[in-house]
Amino acid sequence: MARAFCLDHGLLQQDAFPLDAASLSGEVSRFDRACAAVARELDDSIERVSRQLGEEEAAIFRAHRQLLRDPTLSTRVKTAILERKIDAAAALREIVQDYDKLFGQIADPYLQERMADLRDVIGRILTQLNREQLPAHLNPNEPVILVAEEILPSQALTFDRHLVAGIVTETGGATGHAAILARALGIPAVSGLRGLMREVHTGDLIAVDGREGHVYLNPGPEVEAAYRKLQREYTDFAGKLIENRDLPPITADGIRLELLANVNGPADAATAGSAGATGVGLYRTEYLFLTHPSVPDEEEQLAAYRAVIEAAPNQQVTIRTLDLGGDKHVPYLGHRNEANPFMGFRSIRLSSAYPEFFQTQLRAILRAGRYGNVSLLFPMISTLEEVQRLKKIVDRTRLALQRAGTPFAEEMPLGIMLEVPAAALCIEAILEEVDFISIGSNDLIQYLMAADRDNPHVAHLCEPFSPALMQLLNRVIRACNEHGKPVTLCGEMAGWPRCFLPLFGMGLRRLSMSPAFVPSIKEVVRHTTLEMAQAVAQRVLTMHTVGEIRGYLTRKVREAWPHVSLLDMSH
Ligand code: PEP
Ligand code: MG
Repeated sequence: MARAFCLDHGLLQQDAFPLDAASLSGEVSRFDRACAAVARELDDSIERVSRQLGEEEAAIFRAHRQLLRDPTLSTRVKTAILERKIDAAAALREIVQDYDKLFGQIADPYLQERMADLRDVIGRILTQLNREQLPAHLNPNEPVILVAEEILPSQALTFDRHLVAGIVTETGGATGHAAILARALGIPAVSGLRGLMREVHTGDLIAVDGREGHVYLNPGPEVEAAYRKLQREYTDFAGKLIENRDLPPITADGIRLELLANVNGPADAATAGSAGATGVGLYRTEYLFLTHPSVPDEEEQLAAYRAVIEAAPNQQVTIRTLDLGGDKHVPYLGHRNEANPFMGFRSIRLSSAYPEFFQTQLRAILRAGRYGNVSLLFPMISTLEEVQRLKKIVDRTRLALQRAGTPFAEEMPLGIMLEVPAAALCIEAILEEVDFISIGSNDLIQYLMAADRDNPHVAHLCEPFSPALMQLLNRVIRACNEHGKPVTLCGEMAGWPRCFLPLFGMGLRRLSMSPAFVPSIKEVVRHTTLEMAQAVAQRVLTMHTVGEIRGYLTRKVREAWPHVSLLDMSH
């Protein structure tokens, strides 16, 4: 529960603040410094991108550099500071708003792209301005609830969990990447509330219930008191569970499971250890690229991967190669407008299309492998040919490292993410080629159901309780076990107590999840038997509707572990 803070188009929506005469020239210099820093950033990007990816990919940064050089922008900002005595950030936001008014309604793709470029450059200048000390009254010094049309994964990465008490958005879905990041930070979030931006104003009191997906605007005293009580209970229970950190994830009848963590960087890897995970089951490397001002080179990647390995529990890490596109973009790759971005030129299709760039990442991962127990994971595999082609690329990369005398991990296991139904149906053939499988249920569900995981209008179809998914998972898990190949499930459902029983009953023994969920899943594991889970799995596999499966599993969780249902999400 906290006050709302409305974000507009990703640019912090603040009122302009008046400057006194003495601070005018200081504000102009602050703006100049920010522009100079952006210019350095862009020059660096042009150099690295043209070297690693090619001239065509660097063109976007050249265009941005050109925009920054254009005196119209800086003259307008400086005039606003000196004559109207408003701050640089407010002047920049005004420029975006004016252009929006002028061109926002014109559906011309060329103009829309130029607007996107202008926004990008202004966004960079604003980031630099924010990096400098902000005037005190612009800095929220108590936690707020962010209210926005959409939160991008790159924005969610910058959130400070002590200042962001909750997130509420008009668009987005429960397994979208912004939601995953919020979850990793332990920030309650609710998405898909249409019309939100019209209703809420900065300063309104809001209660966000991320478990139930409820949002109360200006709640009355009764709701407020009920939620304050629930919050205390939740915090107490979560605090108690964390005391189980050092207990092994073994069921009541003695079966050992692996509870692993999904991480984005070294800080999460350390959190994974304190939450009781025994390793990192999924390291999403794209966040390194999303936060880097340009393209990280091999040494920078090596340092980043090594830092994650060293921070991870047991130095055990599964590193996934870049998985961009869909809802995650860097300006130098996948910047094309596609009608169906989640089904387009994304993920492994995109990164492996740039051999130099892709091999730089492979080299860095193979080299980092020396610092721990590391596996290599390829996302979004659709066909056997892709796997065979990727193995050849890895072999060539190994050979090149060997020839150059560069030390690397020679025996790194190689696996694929099972996210595309076509690959799931051909699992037997793929298992012949790989060392392990990681089921990416977030994408597997969206491709199986033909329902965009980020689109609230089809969220009812993006359901882990789908009978089709249960059948498919059963088949995949069985095939992996029969081939003696380890299989992990690393989508969001791995952290849901209600999904645990059927998955364990089907034969799954490895789950990877947001570190925040490890304690509750460990609690569930320790109060389960295989017999109970197998009976549940068998029952679920006879069911034909989402409602039936969801209802049955909800009842089972309440019966088996009434205390844990406080933490479960009741979608
Ligand atoms: C998945 O698709 O389930 C997965 C774990 O990968 P991501 O969420 O990063 O797409
Ligand atoms: Mg995925």
